[in-house]
Amino acid sequence: MASVVFERIEKIYPNGFHALKGLDLSIGDGELLVLVGPSGCGKSTLLRVLAGLEAPSAGVVRIGEEAVNERSPQERNIAMVFQDYALYPYLTVRGNLEFPLRMRKLPKAEMRRRIEWVAGMLDLGEVLERLPRQLSGGQRQRVAMGRALVREPRVFLLDEPLSNLDARLRVQVRAEIGELQRKMGTTMLYVTHDQTEAMTLGERVAVLDRGVLQQIAPPDELYSDPANTFVAGFIGNPPMNLFPVRLVQSEAGLGLWVGGQTVPFPDGRYRADRLAAWVGRELTAGARPERFVEVPDGDPHGFWVTVGALEFLGHETLLHAHLDADAALRSEHVVVRLPGRQERPRGAHVRLALLGEGLHLFDENGKAIEAS
Ligand code: ATP
Repeated sequence: MASVVFERIEKIYPNGFHALKGLDLSIGDGELLVLVGPSGCGKSTLLRVLAGLEAPSAGVVRIGEEAVNERSPQERNIAMVFQDYALYPYLTVRGNLEFPLRMRKLPKAEMRRRIEWVAGMLDLGEVLERLPRQLSGGQRQRVAMGRALVREPRVFLLDEPLSNLDARLRVQVRAEIGELQRKMGTTMLYVTHDQTEAMTLGERVAVLDRGVLQQIAPPDELYSDPANTFVAGFIGNPPMNLFPVRLVQSEAGLGLWVGGQTVPFPDGRYRADRLAAWVGRELTAGARPERFVEVPDGDPHGFWVTVGALEFLGHETLLHAHLDADAALRSEHVVVRLPGRQERPRGAHVRLALLGEGLHLFDENGKAIEAS
């Protein structure tokens, strides 16, 4: 086991594409770090740089204390499980698990010890003599992990390991991977484009976009304190609503201009008296769907939205609405969680207020304004 450190990593492919930009990231010894980001953001590139399959254009990769830039993939002793974890179809589970050990010419007794250890841990003891086609999808996935683990790697890399499993199995195997990691304490870097997977699995989650690390934090912090509009709009299902706002100072105090309407600034995460520097600027507000409440017609904190579609989910209804009052702003779309079953005709007006604790503000560059 070992820690992993990326220092100022750049990756420019021969065609000039800049896939990783000034990336600094550390994974603690024995930590499970999840790397998440949309397709093409550079996740696989980073894994390949760590595994030694791709050389960084600049920067240092360390495993343990050692800089490994010059080390071959074999010398790095990293195991990788890919999404298409091809097992050898004509070898039994035991044969598949033994394969990497035979390649290393391990003594028989040691080989047996490791296979028993891995089979026990992954609950494969009963199926050791079966062929891959006689296994369920989840079992096949576990064999692929086992084959990587018998080598006793220093670092374990998983690249979208669940994408070939159906939704139910994915949930099960995801839980198993988390448990396995805790049992073994192996340093693990787990890559996915699925934010739900990242949020349920990671102790810490690193969010990557267009080759730039956006934020690295425990899941609850990513959810409650996104560092910028990218993270805010990526994490959560549905994600945080983002819409343009302005702070307006008047005799009545600080106001929040939203959808062409001005409401008193809702104190909570921010205090109106600490926001003077931001008055008049073009800001972006963020609010999760559960941070809106419906208020009566006359409520001074309310603003009107126009109902688009309703999605009834059983215990709640998602209201898709347009911020109203100014026809030109109708394209600003928000999703609001309402309790229970709700019926509203399309085009109806609903008066909503924002809960101050759930209001996030981002500057002109999309960077979160610190709570006050
Ligand atoms: P996905 O989730 O779709 O696998 P990813 O986040 O893993 O995506 P990468 O495979 O790391 O993304 O690719 C990052 C970017 O680098 C993409 O835009 C990709 O087109 C580009 N890229 C990858 N490999 C090469 C290459 N050999 N030459 C040029 N560009 C490349």
